[in-house]
Amino acid sequence: MPAKPRIAELEAALARLRRRHAERRRRVLETPQQPCVRLDGRALLSFCSNDYLGLANHPEVVAALRDGATRWGVGSGAAHLVTGHSAAHAALEEELAGFTGRDRALLFSTGYMANLGVIATLCGRDDTIWQDRLNHASLLDAAVLARGRLRRYPHADAGALARQLADQTATLIATDGVFSMDGDLAPLPELAALAERAGAWLLVDDAHGLGVLGEEGRGTLAHYGLDAERVPLLMGTLGKAFGTCGAFVAGSETLIETLIQRARSYIYTTAMPPALAEATRVSLAIARREGWRRTHLQILIKRLRSGANQLGLPLSDSPTAIQPLIAGSSEQALRWAAELETRGILVTAIRPPTVPAGKARLRICLSAAHTEAMVDRLLEALSELPLEPSPPAPSSTTDSAAMAAHP
Ligand SMILES: *Cc1c(COP(=O)(O)O)cnc(C)c1O
Repeated sequence: MPAKPRIAELEAALARLRRRHAERRRRVLETPQQPCVRLDGRALLSFCSNDYLGLANHPEVVAALRDGATRWGVGSGAAHLVTGHSAAHAALEEELAGFTGRDRALLFSTGYMANLGVIATLCGRDDTIWQDRLNHASLLDAAVLARGRLRRYPHADAGALARQLADQTATLIATDGVFSMDGDLAPLPELAALAERAGAWLLVDDAHGLGVLGEEGRGTLAHYGLDAERVPLLMGTLGKAFGTCGAFVAGSETLIETLIQRARSYIYTTAMPPALAEATRVSLAIARREGWRRTHLQILIKRLRSGANQLGLPLSDSPTAIQPLIAGSSEQALRWAAELETRGILVTAIRPPTVPAGKARLRICLSAAHTEAMVDRLLEALSELPLEPSPPAPSSTTDSAAMAAHP
């Protein structure tokens, strides 16, 4: 049993979190992921999930999972390199390679593990890894795991990175394609040019762009017209727009073969259930073919943004399904979320260290499963809030906080 003083330290740390309004609380969802949910016994209209295309509870995807379990059983039973790699995984990998226009794709159990795998395989102690300050926590953690030198550049600022690279080396530049808490896009053409000039890898984590942006939902790279030549490393997740779970890395033959041989987060873990791969094959096909989901999502985004504009609500500048409303302090963000909840609307407050200090927010997420009337209900509820953002924190504190980001 742990020593009493050590437990007391943990208790004191938890109490400090509570005092700073930084304590996290899990709520119990009693329905599938969909716009109308029941949470802790309450019926709410939800604007929180990353199910951007409304596929997480799509009947065809559900049926594919059920049929997949009938065919393959539940567990994969082993790691991919032992006997866990089924024909279902192989087929999904081929389809993802075709979808992303690359030689090959490699499945990982989660996006977190995919990022750890790529960065820790390609970078070591002598390498310098450049990252946007607002990159997802898994990219930052991957650099720590690789034991490389982690350098960060100001958010979406390719000019600043260029100045930093003038007298420093780079092994790899990593960025979110669409930033997970802000919804804005990375300046990928400029970053690709910088990576080429520096002889560095460019890794784009397109967790929030795939399925949503570009033709057939091919993501942020397609949005910019960038091919595998310009962006050699692409990571995508399956738990967001594709509505299932897992992730993949797509790239050249050599890259994927290297990851199979060396990525520890690929090698030393159980393969995802084959039925999940079957379900994802179906959701990928729906995402590609049903362009109306992206069109409808864009209509909802426009409706929310113009409605917010009329109300004078300071939504951040975002062209994607992620529409943040900056509150400032954690306390303020929590108060707004609670106010909305009394009006039957669920929007999670996102607080530091997931976002920088002083930038706590309501992260409004739209989905193709929402209707225009639902967006109107959200706007109506927002219009009843006393939406005075609290004063921003000094900018010196904003950057350091994101380092420890753990959503
Ligand atoms: C969600 C997310 C991840 C992690 O993916 P999981 O499959 O949920 O582990 C990685 N990067 C970004 C940008 C994400 O938003």
